[in-house]
Amino acid sequence: MDELAEGIRRVTLPLPARPGHVHAYLLPGEDGWTIVDTGLGLPDARERWAAELDGLPGRVVRIVVTHFHPDHVGAALDLAELTGAPVSQGRLDYEQCDLVWGHDDWADVLVDWFRCHGVPDHVMLELIEQGSRYRPFIRYQPDPELLDPGDHVDGWRTVAAPGHADGQLMLLRDGVLVAADHLLGRISPTVGLWPRSRLDPLGDYLGALEETIALEARLALPGHGEPIVDPAGRARELIEHHRERLAATAAALGDEPRSGYEVPHPLFGDDLTPSARRFAVAETLSHLERLVLEGGATRYEGVGSVTYTSA
Ligand SMILES: [Zn+2]
Repeated sequence: MDELAEGIRRVTLPLPARPGHVHAYLLPGEDGWTIVDTGLGLPDARERWAAELDGLPGRVVRIVVTHFHPDHVGAALDLAELTGAPVSQGRLDYEQCDLVWGHDDWADVLVDWFRCHGVPDHVMLELIEQGSRYRPFIRYQPDPELLDPGDHVDGWRTVAAPGHADGQLMLLRDGVLVAADHLLGRISPTVGLWPRSRLDPLGDYLGALEETIALEARLALPGHGEPIVDPAGRARELIEHHRERLAATAAALGDEPRSGYEVPHPLFGDDLTPSARRFAVAETLSHLERLVLEGGATRYEGVGSVTYTSA
């Protein structure tokens, strides 16, 4: 456990794949600690948390989950059982959490959706397997206390940060932003279009980045990587990054209709691991949908297929 500014503590938990770690933050409060995020529910999650919390002065009074991705929500139940503390999660985020992790039909939904976006059958299996890899390590808390943007949690205000996940929430107090995966220091958070999610995640993300600039936070504590001392500057870089990516995606389109799978991904290139390919398709689609809304691309919907051309 690391001590950060203003009494905030940080626990770093392992992930089996890149980026190899995820941070949880412990926020000190009047009646005890608020833990933000829980790590992946690996078989030893509970023991690991018990060891981290051993010697912590005061008790844990609350657990906040920023978003439903496996590395953040995975050990929520373990941690709740260990501490006896209630779990809070965003209303929209919990809805999606339950939709994706609480139902066995999610793989079928993904197959239909990837197929519709041009993923050939011979790569489908590895994409789907990749997506269910973490499923055994997700033990979320059913019926959490639901949060909405603007709510207050022990003096921290919840701030909507859609894009990386539709219902992602950050926490802000006195210029310190617990930023989840909205702002990361060295990597660009993935912003993908997924089935049954909001229709323009990149537009949501760019809007949320503009709002992040307006927050004028002096420190951001991200889910991965080191604290960010210029959150507004980092938000501007990420906006710029996506503007370049939008231009590259537009340049890759022509008169010939292409699926989201066929449009080359400017960052990932052609040599993709199954995991990277999953995110590449979803990210390409979030850029294509933004282009459609900005008048830079046209979408064609056929029977069971979606393709794009330049506008
Ligand atoms: Zn994460």
